[in-house]
Amino acid sequence: MSEEQSEPYLISRTAITENVDNAHLLEVEGSCPLCNSYLLMQKGKRMNKKYQIAHIYPNSPLPAEIKELHGLERLGNNCEDFENKIALCKDCHGYYDDHKTKEEYLKLISIKKKLLKAAKVKISISHQDLEEEIVLVINSLSDIDFSTLQRMKLEYQALRISSKIEDTYFMLKMKIETNVCMYYNFIKETFQNLDQSKQINFELVASEIRISFLRCEQEMENKSEIFEALVKWMKSKSVNSTNEACEAVISYFVQSCEVFHEIA
Ligand SMILES: [Zn+2]
Repeated sequence: MSEEQSEPYLISRTAITENVDNAHLLEVEGSCPLCNSYLLMQKGKRMNKKYQIAHIYPNSPLPAEIKELHGLERLGNNCEDFENKIALCKDCHGYYDDHKTKEEYLKLISIKKKLLKAAKVKISISHQDLEEEIVLVINSLSDIDFSTLQRMKLEYQALRISSKIEDTYFMLKMKIETNVCMYYNFIKETFQNLDQSKQINFELVASEIRISFLRCEQEMENKSEIFEALVKWMKSKSVNSTNEACEAVISYFVQSCEVFHEIA
């Protein structure tokens, strides 16, 4: 017990500055990562905080907590690091502090690791440009009529997606396959038309997508997370686009080989 207490991970509590507080709120995108409730509440002209910054590994662990969390992974160099803290709604924070089981702790560790990775990827690919004209492709998707789409639909047998995404990513695979079936020919034709009329440089767009994919891949292994990060990036680079249209375009690039590798 005394060995635990003298350990360097536990340092005295440090106050959180406003900027760090904002960084925590931004990290969870304004919602409690455990129950999804919104962390700000408007009251008249005021915006009230409905959250607190929780220690994942406690700052002053009780003997029972030391025992429960013994030997488990910890984040950050000490308990006051950004990595060991997370914004939670007041209810979830209270519950976590009173019922710190190994399972609850590891769940929070895995959520925080995912958030840290997502933030790192977001920063790393935010500087990667995407031709503004990609908006033309995305807009053409929202203008498409159903009969055109039906006519251009790919036969399911034409797909090669299965050789890039393992069955463990069942839902991602289904999503991409559905997108490719419905939109591949249409997106291909739109790109070709824009490329021929010199409104867009397809090679350039493809290489920009490829670079962003490779950056994501440096930080993330999970293909669902990579797909999501690329969709978010594309959406941030094309004002007024919808999530669905960006998912369709990223799915196109999965099929045309810029995103994901063939499974060996
Ligand atoms: Zn909550």
